[in-house]
Formats: sequence, C-alpha cells, structure tokens
Amino acid sequence: MSAATSGPLDRENGHVVVVGGGLATARLCTVLRRKKFAGPITVLSAEAVPPYDRPPLSKAVLAGDRDETPLPFDTAKLGADLRLSTRAIGLDPGTRTVRTDAGDVAYDALAIATGASPVRLPGDGPQHTLRTLDDALGLRKELVPGARVVIVGAGWIGAEVATAARSAGCRVSCVELGPEPLTGPLGEVAGAATRPWWAGIDLRTATAVRSVEPDGVHLADGAVLPADVVVSGVGVRPETGWLAGSGIATDRGILTDTRCRTGVPGVVALGDVAQRWSAHTGSHRLVEHWDDASTAATAAAASLLDWEQGPEHDPVPYFWSDQFGRKLQYVGAHHPADDLALDRTGDGALVRAIWSRDGVLTAWLGVDRSKDLVTARTAVGGPVSALA
Ligand SMILES: Cc1cc2nc3c(=O)[nH]c(=O)nc-3n(C[C@H](O)[C@H](O)[C@H](O)COP(=O)(O)OP(=O)(O)OC[C@H]3O[C@@H](n4cnc5c(N)ncnc54)[C@H](O)[C@@H]3O)c2cc1C
Repeated sequence: MSAATSGPLDRENGHVVVVGGGLATARLCTVLRRKKFAGPITVLSAEAVPPYDRPPLSKAVLAGDRDETPLPFDTAKLGADLRLSTRAIGLDPGTRTVRTDAGDVAYDALAIATGASPVRLPGDGPQHTLRTLDDALGLRKELVPGARVVIVGAGWIGAEVATAARSAGCRVSCVELGPEPLTGPLGEVAGAATRPWWAGIDLRTATAVRSVEPDGVHLADGAVLPADVVVSGVGVRPETGWLAGSGIATDRGILTDTRCRTGVPGVVALGDVAQRWSAHTGSHRLVEHWDDASTAATAAAASLLDWEQGPEHDPVPYFWSDQFGRKLQYVGAHHPADDLALDRTGDGALVRAIWSRDGVLTAWLGVDRSKDLVTARTAVGGPVSALA
C-alpha cells in the first residue's frame, strides 16, 4: 500500500464515488457529511428512483398498506450528485476509474454498495422475485382472491410472501427443499416449531423444484404444481460481477476487513455485497441484513476519510422478520452443532429459541418479544445462564 494511496482523503476536494443506490449508500453519504467531509460525492445507482427501504416491500407494500418506502436522502442537503439509471460495469483501481454504461467516472475514494440480486429458478415460465419496489408492486397486483400462488422457498422472504398471499385470499402452496420452514437460517428443530403458523397453506417440505414452466412449477419427482403466480424466494447473490478483472478480491461477496476495507487502497465495501471479516466467528461473513447495511456506514466512512484510522465494525448481527402476524427477532450467529433450547406454546409453536456452545450464548430468537431484544443482544457472547 503506497503512502500516496493510504493517507487521509482531502476533506475539501477529495471526490468520493459510491456505487449502489440502496440503504448502505444512503447511510454512508449521511455519515460522510456528519463527519464534515465537504468534497464532492457522486452516487451511481442502477435504479431509476432514489434510495428506498426494502424490508417493507415484503410486508406493508405487499399487504397494500404502503406504495412507497423512501429513505431519507436529500441530494440538495447532502450535496450529492445522484446519477440514477447508471450502472457500473467495470473498475480500474490503477487509474481510479469506475466504468459505467454512461461513461467513466474518476474517484479519489470509492465505496461499493451494490447489494445483491435474487436467484432465479430455471425454466421459461413467468416467475416473480422480490428485491425492488417495482417487484413488490407487480407481485401485489397478482395476489388476488383465489389465485393459485406457488412460492418456492420457505425462508424469510417465502414466509413473508406466504403471509401476504394468504391474507389476500390466494390459494397458497410453498415448496421447500429443506425438511422444515426456515431450516437454512434457524435449523431443522427451531424451523419445525414455526410450522403451525403455516396453517391453510399447502407447505411441501423436502421437495425439490426442477423448473418453472408456463403451466406451473415442475418438481424434481416429475409432478407439476399448476400456478397462476410463481414466486421464487431461494436466496440472493451479491452484485459483484461488474468487478471482474478489477483486482478486488471476492468470495461470495467482496472480501473486506472489519473496517470495511477491501484489499485495494481507497476502496471500501459495505451492505449486502460485502463479506466482512468477523473476529467473533473467525471468518468472512455475509450478513445480508438491514441493521448491518445501516451501521457499517460509520466504519466505511471513517476508512474512506483516513485509510489507516478508524473504528472496527464487528457487531452482534441482528435481523427481524414479520410473518403470520408475528415479529421474529434474531440476534447473534449460531452454528448447527450448538445446543438449542426452545420455549413453545401449548400447540408447539415457537416463542423463544436459545443457542449456546459450552455454556456461552451464541444466538437468541424471540417471537413477539421485542422487550427482551436489547438484553439478549447484550448477552450474546456471555454465559447462557444470564438469560434463564
Ligand atoms: C423484500 C425484502 C425484505 C427484507 N426484509 C428484511 C427484514 O425484515 N429484516 C432485515 O434485517 N433485512 C431485510 N431485508 C434485507 C435488507 O433490506 C438489506 O440487507 C439491505 O437493503 C441492504 O442494503 P444495501 O444498500 O447493501 O443493498 P440494496 O438495498 O440491495 O441496494 C443496492 C443498490 O445497488 C444498485 N446496484 C446494483 N448493482 C449496481 C451497479 N453495477 N451499478 C450501480 N448500481 C448498482 C441496486 O440497484 C440497488 O439500488 C429485506 C430485503 C428485501 C429485498
């Protein structure tokens, strides 16, 4: 790392370019100004609209309670040049240039916050994914009473879409590869304890999908689930393709240290696209949650302003989901081999899950227990007995 590239950024004239137009970008620009950065900020966003919030898309927007979810992002107040419908297509760190579909943009310091894109299922049939406001508004139109809706994936997005579709009076099926809903994030035992919430939905677990065709969802065993609406909720891929050949190291996401720094001086990455080092887990972690995309902005901005100084960002992860009339909140990060203790209601449905290893609390999940969240988050990493 040369001295010329690793020193403090010129706070009056240095040019910060941010690629991406979502939450992480909005927060980063705000923090840069709060830290008295007075130089030009250029935001390159592939979207046609200013930054907005995504969690409500699968909740209030699908339910018809909201049509928009703007984030605070006042370009005049921030003094930011927001270039909408502008996609970054390449990066040359040698000349400090971002290539876009609307021409080259030079930078002194660069933040990458390009988020992630939903995985699509194979096949020629129409399928919805849910990432943008247009996706949510388009899907909402089709959630009409009696519509045969097949959701692929009983993860966070699948469960929230199932909630909205059932409320709208659709005939809902959900096909999940794992043995239980939410097996991926919660594991089989805790996931099984959410099964009672799926009443009225044709939930088919341990079922593989081959493709989506015009007549519906084709399963691996040859069966066909006829569908008017197909929604794929099988995960996302970090938006890193445009960085090919740039020298920015990627695994699934962009690899960074705990200060959001990539291996290329002057370039940070944050939000869903970043796979940041965590001392807690001793690994690079893809967090993909709202809280992290928001709070990482402080460390990322500090690194942009002074590459050698700044706070580390390695918080206890936090995620929430609103599904089937319940609020789920998860803090920490558990390993499938951790000990698990469940509190359930009389009908076996989940109230609380606690994961621990060698007597140390690794993660906590509460269902409608917001009042316990702060205590639980503070307790992660300490003795599990503190939560008894
Ligand atoms: C439907 C939905 C529901 C969610 N619900 C929850 C929840 O309940 N709880 C929770 O914790 N999290 C939730 N999340 C996750 C949370 O919204 C994300 O973690 C957060 O949006 C990440 O912000 P980001 O800025 O990193 O990425 P994004 O918000 O994805 O923003 C990335 C931006 O970069 C742009 N972009 C991509 N490639 C390029 C390019 N090459 N050039 C220029 N621009 C580009 C994209 O168009 C987009 O505007 C949800 C996400 C979705 C989609």
